[in-house]
Amino acid sequence: MKKIYILDSSAILSGKPLYLEGKIVIPESIEREVVKEDPKLLQIFLGRDVRYEKPSKKSLDEVNRVAEDLGEKERLSDVDKEIIALALDHREEGDVCIITDDYSIQNVSSFLGLSYRGISEKGISERFKWGYRCEGCKKFFKRPYSSCPVCGSKLKPVVRKRTRV
Ligand SMILES: [Zn+2]
Repeated sequence: MKKIYILDSSAILSGKPLYLEGKIVIPESIEREVVKEDPKLLQIFLGRDVRYEKPSKKSLDEVNRVAEDLGEKERLSDVDKEIIALALDHREEGDVCIITDDYSIQNVSSFLGLSYRGISEKGISERFKWGYRCEGCKKFFKRPYSSCPVCGSKLKPVVRKRTRV
């Protein structure tokens, strides 16, 4: 089966050699980010099958829906969502794997049935659902607020639910 790797920015900015056999897909927004930072970093992909793409709106909507449900929406940047959405876009085409060390990307991906691999560390073996607890009145909320709607204190992210993968 054809291998397709979706890379996040840390996978590229790490400058580490990536031993990936197959097609490599990178969000266009990361290409712009890396070119600004150090265009030389993209040279490791010279002569490889690399595409810089923008994900479909349909996949982005799906990622947003799942991220919201898992309480990961605030933890994912726009680029993070694009990485997961691109994996969804290429799912029909072959064996898709996201290369990332970001736990929120890994968590949402695992709920969507997408595989991932860490750059340096091993992937997570647990899935998390996040919630938010008030540091003042200790009330628990599923959604993040800028401050506690009851007493106005700061909210702290806590794991609401944990499942082994
Ligand atoms: Zn409170």
